[in-house]
Amino acid sequence: MTHKVTLIPGDGIGPEVASAARLVADATGVPLEWEVVEAGESVMAKEGTPLPQYVLDSLKRTRLGLKGPITTPIGSGFRSVNVALRQQLDLYASLRPARAIAGEGTRYPDADLVVVREATEGLYSGVEHWIDKEHSAGETINIITRKASERIIRFAFEYAAKYGRKKVTAVHKANIMKVTGGLFQEVFRTIAREYPGMPSEERLVDNMSMQLVKKPEEYDVLVTTNLFGDILSDLCAGLAGGLGVAPGALFGKEIALFEPVHGSAPKYAGQDKADPVAEILCVEMMLHHLGYHEQARRVFRAVWEVIYEKKVVTYDLALPGYTAWPTTPSKCSEMAREIAKKIPEVDLDRPLKRRTWNGGDSPVTDSALEA
Ligand code: NAD
Repeated sequence: MTHKVTLIPGDGIGPEVASAARLVADATGVPLEWEVVEAGESVMAKEGTPLPQYVLDSLKRTRLGLKGPITTPIGSGFRSVNVALRQQLDLYASLRPARAIAGEGTRYPDADLVVVREATEGLYSGVEHWIDKEHSAGETINIITRKASERIIRFAFEYAAKYGRKKVTAVHKANIMKVTGGLFQEVFRTIAREYPGMPSEERLVDNMSMQLVKKPEEYDVLVTTNLFGDILSDLCAGLAGGLGVAPGALFGKEIALFEPVHGSAPKYAGQDKADPVAEILCVEMMLHHLGYHEQARRVFRAVWEVIYEKKVVTYDLALPGYTAWPTTPSKCSEMAREIAKKIPEVDLDRPLKRRTWNGGDSPVTDSALEA
C-alpha cells in the first residue's frame, strides 16, 4: 500500500532540509507518494495568505505530513502558520525527543529526554490585544482547559508506558499562576493516579530549567503547557546536540504531522549549509508511526553512523566538540546523500557505540533510544 504524505517544504532552510529528508525517506524503500504543498512566506504574495486552504485540505486527506520550518514575522505581520496549523487541525500533542546522537556535538553524550508539549492553547491561543489606543499596555491571555490538559497528560503517560520510560515530570508554574497552572497541576495529579506503575513528579518551570542543565539524567518524559514546552524543547535540543538534530511530531486524533524543533534559520537559507538531521529524524518518527519499524531503525542508525564517523557532517557537528576531533563541514545535501547511502547497509543487530569524554567509546544500552 502506498502512503500519501503531504510535504510542506516551508521557508528559509526548510526546502533544503525537506528535500534531504525526502531523499532519505525514499532510500528506505517504503512506498511513499509525496503531495507537495507550499505554505509560509513563499506563498504569501501569490495566495494572499501564508496558509492556503489547499494545505489544510491536503493534510485532512492524507492524514500524514512532513513539514519544514515556516517563518513567523516578529512583532507584526501575519500570525504564525505553525500555531494556526496546530489549532485548525487540532494537533494537540507535540512530541519532541531530544537524544544525543553518537555522543557528538554535546556536553551530555547520553542525553535522552522527551518533551510532550500541549500545542493548541496556553499563551499561544492567539487571544491578545492592546489595552489602549496608544499601545502603552497589552494583554496576552493564557487559556488552559481541563479537556486539553487531560488529553496531553494522558498522552504523556501512555507514551511513557508504551516506550518503557522511567518517569513523567509535569512542568508548570502553579505557585504564581494559581488558576491556569493550578488546573494543569490538579489534572496531572488525577491522571497520574491512573498509572500507578509509572513514577511521576512535578517541577516549577524555573527550577526545571536549572535542573535540566545540571542533571538531565534524572529526567525522562516532561509534560507541559504550550509556551513552557516551546522553551524547554529548545533547551533539551541544546542538551542533546543542538537544533540541528532535534526532530518532532504533532499528533491529533487522526492527523500526524512531523516537523523539526528548529525554525527556518533565515541566515543560512539557500546556502546548502543547514544540518538535515532533525528533518531526517522526523522521517524516522513518521516511519515508526506508519508501522515500518525496521526501516525507521535503519534511518536512525544511518544518521548515528554518519555522525559517529564524523567525516561527512554539517558545520554544527564539525566543530571540535567535546568528544571528537574537528572536521571540514560538509553541505546539507552531501550529508543527506551519505545518510541515504548507508540505509541499506546498516547492521540492525550491531550494538551502537557513542563517544565519551576521554575520546573513547562506550556501548549504548538504552534500547528506548531506537523506539
Ligand atoms: P531557528 O531555529 O530558525 O534558528 C536558531 C539558530 O539555530 C540558527 O541561527 C542556527 O544557528 C541554528 N539552527 C537551527 N536549525 C538548524 C539546522 N537545521 N542546522 C544547523 N543549525 C541550525 O530559530 P529563530 O532564528 O529563532 O527563528 C527563525 C524563524 O523560524 C522565525 O521566523 C521563527 O518564527 C521560525 N520558527 C519556526 C518553527 C516551525 O516552523 N516549527 C519553529 C521555530 C521557529
